[in-house]
Amino acid sequence: MFTSEIKSKTGEDISILVKLDNHPWSYICECGDASNLTIKEIQNTNAIFISHTHIDHFINFDTVIRHQVGIQRRVTICGPKGIANQVQSKIKGYTWNLVDKDAITYEIREVLSDDKIVVYEIEPPVWELKEICTLSGNTIFEEKSFVVTSTLLDHKTPTLAYKFKENSTTKIDIASSGFSGGKWVKELKDAFENNLDNQIITIENKEYPAQELFHLLHIQKGDTLGIILDHSANTENHLKIKEHFSNTRKVFIESFYKDEDKELAVIHYHSYASMSAKVMKDSSVKEAIPVHFSRKYNENEIEELITEFNLALNSSNV
Ligand SMILES: [Zn+2]
Ligand SMILES: [Zn+2]
Repeated sequence: MFTSEIKSKTGEDISILVKLDNHPWSYICECGDASNLTIKEIQNTNAIFISHTHIDHFINFDTVIRHQVGIQRRVTICGPKGIANQVQSKIKGYTWNLVDKDAITYEIREVLSDDKIVVYEIEPPVWELKEICTLSGNTIFEEKSFVVTSTLLDHKTPTLAYKFKENSTTKIDIASSGFSGGKWVKELKDAFENNLDNQIITIENKEYPAQELFHLLHIQKGDTLGIILDHSANTENHLKIKEHFSNTRKVFIESFYKDEDKELAVIHYHSYASMSAKVMKDSSVKEAIPVHFSRKYNENEIEELITEFNLALNSSNV
């Protein structure tokens, strides 16, 4: 299961930290100014996901670099068209003569379309941008136990909305199986996952064809988590959100404006409270969290905005 925590205080820019049970690394979504993001969390980060590079989503990237240089590992940065040059430009604003080549490697995955990703690599001290390969499809990041897919939305500039999806796992209920555990459990799961029906499984000196034991197993569906930042509240974006995030367990979605300011949402290519809630409801998202509010609002107004969001989410006729 994924855990997710907003690292920005009220009034700060957005940054969300994602972790997964039984997985050692953290994942930073958006590099807005976020004083609750710790040095340890930054250093333990395996990949960074940026929706777009408006300053409120990218300003804290300097702090991230500050703490990551020296960790001597590869960190992946995902973002829309232009991200590779923008990462390089930020880095080149500093002097690196005392930093070794192996201090860090950034792999930058730049999404050009919903079907094309260009992969770059960049290393100190020269920070030359090297194109490594091109990927097709919308899987932007992959680990052994989960994948992250993206869909491009329109915010007068392309922005990426990300979905984390944990792989399904095969489980066994030993207590009700009548057997005691042992290495056969893994052998049985492997046989099940690889369709080896006749594989012999030995339990307590007795041999069974694997398929006779498959009834002891069940599939546990993997968890899902979505991050949808700045986007216009328009039909095309909403169709893409519904397609990509249908039935997601938990989604953070930008609700930049209150409903009374929906004209501002149109002018600034943003969404607003009840519309963000509606698209979450239409996508059958189980838990929808409004985030990223305009700085024009005080704390009371933000509370009103969240109330508007929740009313629309729970209303039966929106
Ligand atoms: Zn923006
Ligand atoms: Zn923004």
